Amino acid sequence: MDELFDIDILEIHKRLKNKELSVKDLTLFVLENIKRREEELNAFITLRDEDDILKDAEGLDARYPDYLRSPISGIPVAIKDNISVKDMPLTCASRILLGYKAPYDATCVKKLKENNALLLGKTNLDEFAMGSTGEYSYFGATKNPLHLEYVPGGSSSGSAAAVKAGFAFYALGSDTGGSVRLPAFYTEVVGFKPTYGRISRYGLVAFASSLDQVGIIARSAKDAEVVFAHISGFDEHDSTSYPMPPYRVEESEKVNIKELTIGVPYSLIEKVKEEEIKNAVLEVIERFKNAGLTVLDIDLPHAEYAVYVYQVVATSEASSNLSRYDGVRYGLRAKAEDLMSTYFKTRGEGFGDEVKRRILLGTFALSTGYYDEYYQKAQKVRRLIKEDTDSVFRRVDGIILPVSPSFPPRLGEGIKDPISLYLLDTFTTLANLSGIPAISIPLKKRSKEGFALGFQLMTQAFREDKLFALSKFFENSLDG
Ligand code: GLN
Repeated sequence: MDELFDIDILEIHKRLKNKELSVKDLTLFVLENIKRREEELNAFITLRDEDDILKDAEGLDARYPDYLRSPISGIPVAIKDNISVKDMPLTCASRILLGYKAPYDATCVKKLKENNALLLGKTNLDEFAMGSTGEYSYFGATKNPLHLEYVPGGSSSGSAAAVKAGFAFYALGSDTGGSVRLPAFYTEVVGFKPTYGRISRYGLVAFASSLDQVGIIARSAKDAEVVFAHISGFDEHDSTSYPMPPYRVEESEKVNIKELTIGVPYSLIEKVKEEEIKNAVLEVIERFKNAGLTVLDIDLPHAEYAVYVYQVVATSEASSNLSRYDGVRYGLRAKAEDLMSTYFKTRGEGFGDEVKRRILLGTFALSTGYYDEYYQKAQKVRRLIKEDTDSVFRRVDGIILPVSPSFPPRLGEGIKDPISLYLLDTFTTLANLSGIPAISIPLKKRSKEGFALGFQLMTQAFREDKLFALSKFFENSLDG
């Protein structure tokens, strides 16, 4: 791809400032890529009109240098279509929201706009962000830019594919159980999920509210950090927003890398059957060790239950959150004789199979007689999982793990067996259940078959400084 795509956001900013580049240059670059490949990839659900995008770009250039409020000013971005952008369709890739337009901007979008980011459109996803492949979209699957016969991972399938294909310089996604990190892994880009509460959830359509976070998909950890600095911070519109000022990039610069200790749950990693995935992670750990960091073998005794606990908690919360789609308030309304049948018909016709499966599972787990057995038990194990990470972070600064135990399935292959897809989140759900930040980072080398390789890093809650310090150290010095 073009050399323009090799320069990071801070460097682009510098060139915009020096007038070596214009917003229009950046825009023409992404539009060209979109024209070339969007038809085969299907990364967008709603792409804004090309002339409108160009008009915005020219409008910014005309306001040089005043429009340059921050490093993300003028940089083209794509947004997952479960995040509200005022007056644009908000579909969540569901039939049930056809015709619905967002009445307000999500806080993260408002911040992008305040920074004069250039909004391109809304990206494809699994319906209501429930899925790991991107195939559960009413608007059709997104393809993996690296391998067209394979899935890009989900649920932020379109955001990941868009960044990989040069349709946008970065994208927003959402991560409830791994939806930013998994597609980032499968498409060879960076996927970052912050600490629960650090980016406002206001305007992000709720899936499982105690787990949902807006995340960032970017070409590098360095870029993800810059974007994070501009969309994080307390928001009074989100009751779980943490009272803390926005993150600052200077925070990671103060971290002394060589003093950090990395924890490795070797016993979990050993269980990964895909040799190349396992060996790539072990190699990354060796590189950190050779660079002088301390590496400790750690135990996360309840981590193997994370993905199961996640399914109970997430489906329970989803069954409650999705009750609002009643055919009265939003989008689709089926023709029916009375109120009850309006509910039934709208939901019957509007939701796809996977969403129905989740609502049924969640309703079951919450129902009388099963509540104690499933939901409450899952909450207890969630607590144990969190205690595991809390105790580990008394001894280590970061945990290294695989992103997923397997490579992306072929399109159409995984959805025959939903359980196999749930298991792709074996290593990601841990961070959502404990509320801690996590990032998925690609390696320069690929597997023999040409699949992307990478690893995942987690740190203690609110220690994004260490997360980015370690990630950038890897990018700059260890993956040469
Ligand atoms: N793949 C997970 C699921 O299917 C996670 C989804 C997400 O993070 N939004 O629920």
